[in-house]
Amino acid sequence: MNRRRADVVIVGSGAGGGTVAARLAPLVAAGKSVLVLEQGPRLDDHEFTGKEAEMANALYADGGGFLTADGTMTLAFGRGYGGSTVVYTGTSLVAPRRVIEHWKVPGLGHDEVVRRSAKYQAENNVALLPENLLNDNNRLFVTGARAAGFTAEQFPLNLRGCRGSSLCNLGCPNAAKQGTNRVQLPAAERLGVEVVTRAEVVRLEERQIQVLVSDVPPGARGRPSSWAPGEYLIDADTVILAAGAIGTPALLLRSGLAGLPSGTGRGLTVHPALILVGEHPTPISNDVGHPKSFFVDRAAEEGFVLETCMYFPFVTAKNLTGFGPEHSLLMRAFPRLQMILVLACDKAIGENRVTVDRQGRPVVHYRFTPEVVRSLTRATRASARIFFGAGAVRVHAPLADPPLLDRADRDRIDQLIDDRHFRPGRVSVSAAHLMGGAAMGHDETDSVTDSWGRLHGRPWLRVADASLFPDSLEINPYLTVMALADRVADGVLGDLGAIP
Ligand SMILES: Cc1cc2nc3c(=O)[nH]c(=O)nc-3n(C[C@H](O)[C@H](O)[C@H](O)COP(=O)(O)OP(=O)(O)OC[C@H]3O[C@@H](n4cnc5c(N)ncnc54)[C@H](O)[C@@H]3O)c2cc1C
Ligand code: SF4
Repeated sequence: MNRRRADVVIVGSGAGGGTVAARLAPLVAAGKSVLVLEQGPRLDDHEFTGKEAEMANALYADGGGFLTADGTMTLAFGRGYGGSTVVYTGTSLVAPRRVIEHWKVPGLGHDEVVRRSAKYQAENNVALLPENLLNDNNRLFVTGARAAGFTAEQFPLNLRGCRGSSLCNLGCPNAAKQGTNRVQLPAAERLGVEVVTRAEVVRLEERQIQVLVSDVPPGARGRPSSWAPGEYLIDADTVILAAGAIGTPALLLRSGLAGLPSGTGRGLTVHPALILVGEHPTPISNDVGHPKSFFVDRAAEEGFVLETCMYFPFVTAKNLTGFGPEHSLLMRAFPRLQMILVLACDKAIGENRVTVDRQGRPVVHYRFTPEVVRSLTRATRASARIFFGAGAVRVHAPLADPPLLDRADRDRIDQLIDDRHFRPGRVSVSAAHLMGGAAMGHDETDSVTDSWGRLHGRPWLRVADASLFPDSLEINPYLTVMALADRVADGVLGDLGAIP
């Protein structure tokens, strides 16, 4: 066993880990060592090919196909230098006031979240997309939304030199998307933070971490680790967990630390999502331009958000309900397809949670509540109206039976699309906004950490990622993850007497 020491160890290098690494980097000049351990690989620019099968395996946990315990939902999360920020789309929204007030985290006000988010909006170059990168898929969404009586808003995006290749979720081949892999991690490394990839934290003990560093598997992408393959034991004064809403609770649970708060792993929310398509009579530009430029926010009123999206053939095929001739008819219509991503705003409940199996691997238990099914139904009805309002001749609506609606069905949308057609396992549901499992709050009775991300009863151990969310955010989460990680970093600097 190799032995190492570091003053601060950060586990994970995504939205949370990358942010904390950059904020703590000035400590290095003051003589402290800051180490980031990331289980996934670090790819060089030329390795981002945009090819679906290659990049899914290189950048996602389980190639993007991680399934919940009962097999009814796929969870997508990144695994590598930059975590999920390498594969996110980069839509950059600030948390709504009503959500932060509902969280009731002591001392955390909405104004603070806005202020901290603004810092990363500037640092990661958030702006509205220029007109020339808006494609038909996005324009038709705006037209259809207007016709259906909804207001479509434009997404701010964090890009620099976007070329509209529409491959954001496969890792940008043009280095345009400003994730932590492009901004915070390189900045931290320039100041002396050490980032070690292919380094999986296997277990935590009191101020000690067990790490397994792996070799590059045959045929895999990415650089070898800067540490020799093998087992390591690292002594650390401060440990910050930023392994994501699946990775952080799983690591805490498999470590078996005495007196772990009973809420650990509980209250996972995911924004369950459906991918819907509308078929137009003639080809539209859909897979060039930026894929996600507009959204309709009905979270407060009806519990859903609709976003433009455009997925690649494999993901699209997987997400279309049905088989055989009808399925292949839609896939053959790919150049004529308009796409909408439907997100349901789920609520944190104890039974939706992360546990670990005997080998310590994460297992996610998730039940679709009647409220979530209702939100998906409402969202599917709204999307059908938008598709037809934009001129689509046919709509794929998985909550209808059969799941294809013709233009002639326009007046019967509410009858045809109904909760009763939601059959878990038959309708393809996926999720990429994974939140909760190590919630912030007052004490052990209502949460896992305090409002500065310190684990109750273990001030040396902190959390700085999406697992801190006490409930779903009801919008895209990365900017809020960064804002909370920024707050956690302030807490660490304060405890070390180094607060600016
Ligand atoms: C396809 C996709 C699209 C998205 N699009 C958007 C978007 O447009 N806008 C938005 O706001 N949000 C988006 N999100 C969500 C956003 O990316 C996440 O909310 C955010 O990145 C979460 O940050 P995090 O730090 O909690 O986890 P992550 O960014 O997932 O980082 C966790 C890291 O920890 C590492 N790790 C886990 N376990 C260990 C271990 N034991 N040892 C070492 N390392 C470990 C993982 O490999 C990973 O790199 C998207 C997500 C996906 C998957
Ligand atoms: S659309 Fe822009 S950000 Fe997305 S992959 Fe293409 S160049 Fe990168």
